[in-house]
Parts: sequence; C-alpha cells; structure tokens
Amino acid sequence: MEKVSQKLKSKNLKVTTQRIAIYKFLLETNTHPTAEIIYNNLKEFYPTMSIATVYKTLTIFKNANLIQELSLNDSSFHYDAKTEFHSHLVCTCCNSVFDYNYSYIPNIKKDIFDKTEFSIEYTQLYFYGICKNCKKH
Ligand SMILES: [Zn+2]
Ligand SMILES: [Zn+2]
Repeated sequence: MEKVSQKLKSKNLKVTTQRIAIYKFLLETNTHPTAEIIYNNLKEFYPTMSIATVYKTLTIFKNANLIQELSLNDSSFHYDAKTEFHSHLVCTCCNSVFDYNYSYIPNIKKDIFDKTEFSIEYTQLYFYGICKNCKKH
C-alpha cells in the first residue's frame, strides 16, 4: 500500500483511497481488464466508487504513463499496469489477452531509426489468434 501511494506521488498525482485501489488492482492482475471489470471487482469494497471515477482515474493514470491503455478488437479499452514495452497475444475466441516479450522489438526500433530517423515514442503490438485453452475445446 505504501509503495503504491509513493508511485502515485512520484507522478505528481493526488493520492486517494480509490486511486490506490484501482492501481493496486491493475498491479495484481495480468488479465488486462476493462474499466467495467475493474469497477465490478472494486465496488463491493468501495461502495462510493462510481464507474465515472474509474474511467476518469484510468485516463489520469494513462496520461501520467502509470498504465497502458490497450485498444483491442472489442468496444472497450483494456488496461495494463506494465508500462515497459511488451506485445499482446489476443485470443479471438475467449478474448483473453496474454503478455509476450518479443526480444526483436528493440532491434526493429533501431532499424527504423537508422533507416528513416523516425524516433518511436510509443508502440503497441498485437497478435490475434486462438489460445491454447480454446484449442482444447
Ligand atoms: Zn482463448
Ligand atoms: Zn500486457
């Protein structure tokens, strides 16, 4: 809890119980939840929390580079507390999202810069397909 509030302070963000709860929830999951899922998991413990607060807080976190916002092939954004670059494997059958560290990416960025002088600030890489669990069914 202490660490989480320090992280918020280090980004010059006001520390509130609800903000801590939302950030902590994201830190403790690797399921890349939507705002609705975060809200549904937390509302029981924070009865005064509204879905609007969750949306607003996620936008503030995203703008502070505390979290990543993922735009997948569905209607809602998904959120990830891991901000260092990694790619996402998205199952088109069960909508699960898995992290994957693709080691070639730093080389690709360097290659692009060397050839075009284009500096990449932001990358999102998605691979769509069928996950192991869905193949079993
Ligand atoms: Zn699946
Ligand atoms: Zn991720």
